[in-house]
Amino acid sequence: MFFSSSADEHDNKNAEYELHISKLKDSVTILKGRLAGHKECRAERDLYRTFMKVLTDATDPDQLLKDLIDALAELLHARYAGIFVLDQETETFVYKFGKGYNPDLLPEIPRNQSAMGKCFKNRSIIWEQLFRDKADLYVDLKQVPSEYNLLLIPVFLFGMEMAVVRLANVDEAAEVTASAVMRGMIPVISAQLERLHLQERNEQAMKGLDVSFSIARLLENTLSEREIIQNICAKIPKLVPAKACLVALYDDDNRMRPLLSWPNGFHLGGNPQSELIYLRNLLEAWPDGSTIIADIHKDRRWGWAVQDIRALCMCPIRFRGTLRGLVIVLGQRFGETLDETSAKFIGLAATQASVTLERAAYFRRQEELASCDGLTGLFNHRMFQETIRSEIDRSIRYDRTLSMLMFDIDHFKKFNDTYGHPVGDEVIKMVARIAKSSGRQTDRTFRYGGEEFCVIMPETPVENATLLAERIRTRIESDRSVKGLSVTVSLGITQFRAGEKPETLIDRADQALYKSKESGRNRFTVL
Ligand code: GH3
Ligand code: MG
Ligand code: MG
Repeated sequence: MFFSSSADEHDNKNAEYELHISKLKDSVTILKGRLAGHKECRAERDLYRTFMKVLTDATDPDQLLKDLIDALAELLHARYAGIFVLDQETETFVYKFGKGYNPDLLPEIPRNQSAMGKCFKNRSIIWEQLFRDKADLYVDLKQVPSEYNLLLIPVFLFGMEMAVVRLANVDEAAEVTASAVMRGMIPVISAQLERLHLQERNEQAMKGLDVSFSIARLLENTLSEREIIQNICAKIPKLVPAKACLVALYDDDNRMRPLLSWPNGFHLGGNPQSELIYLRNLLEAWPDGSTIIADIHKDRRWGWAVQDIRALCMCPIRFRGTLRGLVIVLGQRFGETLDETSAKFIGLAATQASVTLERAAYFRRQEELASCDGLTGLFNHRMFQETIRSEIDRSIRYDRTLSMLMFDIDHFKKFNDTYGHPVGDEVIKMVARIAKSSGRQTDRTFRYGGEEFCVIMPETPVENATLLAERIRTRIESDRSVKGLSVTVSLGITQFRAGEKPETLIDRADQALYKSKESGRNRFTVL
């Protein structure tokens, strides 16, 4: 049973096989016949051959399409051939590239994208028909001289609708051939294009990783905000073909200000005055994400002044979700220099800058907390101890003078006792403000203790230190900003003497202060 059934099956299969073979032989015979003589068949064969060669040689999707168009144009003796991509937003065909086709120079065919778009005003019908039937389509252009008609051949690429557009002045037979060949080749072309695109995307992703890594390396040891911005400004021109780069951050008054530019001294709009206006305009029109303006000259809002710059890419710098700054990169024409890929890299750099700036701000805050006094914002006692030691070292090494001033609020207890501690705090803050604003840039002011303060004055002999002491004393004496209260301080001044320890210097300043208290307060004493 088993064997006889299997034998039957075997016979059936053989018969089926014979049938296939004979069909195949027939097709080969027919094909041979077709290929033997006909002119169209030769053209068809040439096209296939050329296309296959183009397909196997291709390494870059754009180049592949260019080569295909070249081959089409040449083999069909077409006057113009081009690829147009459908722009979904405007529903117009945007010229991508082609042979013998110059959108600027050819007056007799649709000159610009909108004219081309007009031909497809009835897009829904034409385009759907084109892609539903997946067939080529002839379209008579009403707007152009009748000698031109279009042969549209759909190409699918990642769901993107594309059309090979040929502006015909070729003979009918060649048109038929081209249609047949294109129809046969389209799945192969699409598959190859997708493969190339994937490959290109992988390469881009790898490059993106490289970029990300190199910026991370660049910024990993940086905790200074300025250095971060400097590094980003210097790095961007190495990542993308930029003509200029600018980083702007919000300042303390909440105004976006340019901070650094590359090349040095570059200004948006040409000069520092107009730069702020351009920046404000950019911010106003800014849709919030990373943005590319392909041609800034075309938009009247900018009133753009920098002639050789057209493309602009803007990426946000954020701290915890709020906008803190912008990285602005400028290039020549969009696509030739800056493109979507470069925008991605700039975006990567801006994001990394955001993270690093946030980290830097956090460290700065921590340092401030560790070295500053919360009530007055002056340096604290710990910083005083560090600074006096390092200044003494410097003074010895470079043989420079060093003076210090110590002072204490007179009868401070009575402010607390009479008006309460919050008023006492206000008095301390007022004294701190005056002490800090009365000195030089190089002088450093500390809150030594409760209502005691210190000023370290490098490069200052004691005679000059008395000038500062007197300035502080009189300013505090005449200040009535806290509830109209009269506040005075007693001060002690001294100069570092070679060979002595920090403690000795501090102790002498303290003694001088004590003397001022003893001899009636609201005065200074030099020891
Ligand atoms: P003298 O003229 O001799 O300096 O008299 P005085 O009252 O200022 O005496 P003293 O310097 O001893 O006073 C220190 C007082 O300062 C004690 C403390 O209650 C107060 N104090 C210290 N730190 C603070 C602070 O941060 N806020 C307030 N409100 N008071 C403080
Ligand atoms: Mg005191
Ligand atoms: Mg006191």
